[in-house]
Amino acid sequence: MSSGVIENNVREILETLPDSVTLVAAAKTRSADEVRAAIRGGVKILGYNYVQEAAAIKQEIGENPAVRWHMIGHLQRNKAKQAVELFDMIETIDSLRLAETVNRHCAKIDKQMPVLIEINSGRERNKTGVFPEAAEALIKKVSDLSHLKLQGLMTMAPFFDDPEKARPYFKSTRLLFDKIAAFDFVNVSMKYLSMGMSDTYQIAIEEGANLVRIGTRMFGPRK
Ligand SMILES: *Cc1c(COP(=O)(O)O)cnc(C)c1O
Repeated sequence: MSSGVIENNVREILETLPDSVTLVAAAKTRSADEVRAAIRGGVKILGYNYVQEAAAIKQEIGENPAVRWHMIGHLQRNKAKQAVELFDMIETIDSLRLAETVNRHCAKIDKQMPVLIEINSGRERNKTGVFPEAAEALIKKVSDLSHLKLQGLMTMAPFFDDPEKARPYFKSTRLLFDKIAAFDFVNVSMKYLSMGMSDTYQIAIEEGANLVRIGTRMFGPRK
């Protein structure tokens, strides 16, 4: 897609978002030029699935204080060191081992890392994320890690041709979010609920999402 079209898509998306909802551009496979166009349109957060790809694009577009970087894909522990240097938030913490590894690398560079817990809301075998019933125990343990700031939940609902079918998974993740918020754990502030993609973000917002991760609707279909 041309830069002008991407810029315009971003503006259109931003116009439809309530003020309380923040847009994350899901930028996997997009060129530096496409990403620059999205930023001109008003994108302030770039989401990446792979550390390597985020590093390459960051190198190309340079430091920009107006842009923040979120890890939205599964993080391998052997990439945690680089991830900690690159990202401003890791949305995909789904095990204590991963949380401890990220915490350790943060401690070395004296960084406090905002993190979300990824929930496997559809309890799908082939997906990452912690099962909903295991979230509370994980959150209690993660809240003890001094260099992580636990700020909410993220989920990827199962895929359906009909976006409405994703609604129950957003609803149940919202209920879990509220339940955990009500516990008022020390060191946990439940601020962000990251859910919804191009086809489902409106539904996710209706169910309480305040971070939406959008790729296709912004940049066009991936090749
Ligand atoms: C690719 C991706 C998205 C966005 O998907 P689109 O359908 O292109 O909007 C959102 N979240 C994650 C984790 C992704 O990998």
